[in-house]
Amino acid sequence: MDNLDGNVLAGPTSDIFGFDLTSSQGQCQFCEDIAVLGQSMVYGMPMGFVARCRRCGHVLMVIMEHAGRKSFSAQGLRWLRPSEIGGFHE
Ligand SMILES: [Zn+2]
Repeated sequence: MDNLDGNVLAGPTSDIFGFDLTSSQGQCQFCEDIAVLGQSMVYGMPMGFVARCRRCGHVLMVIMEHAGRKSFSAQGLRWLRPSEIGGFHE
């Protein structure tokens, strides 16, 4: 299955957090790779999206939509640093 551009997460993350998380930096819990979310491998699902580590392929983040409400899980991220909050810029 081909992965989507990580920037497809801009819309769903904006809906949940009020801003686009794709420029946020995060670290994979499994291989410790650090990348911005927009660089992850994103796969569409019937109910949402799964973002996988570009290096080891583990699931970093899941966005699900059910009955018009979105939920968010960042199970594979050790941390996530939104650029808008932390003042971090590429
Ligand atoms: Zn990884």
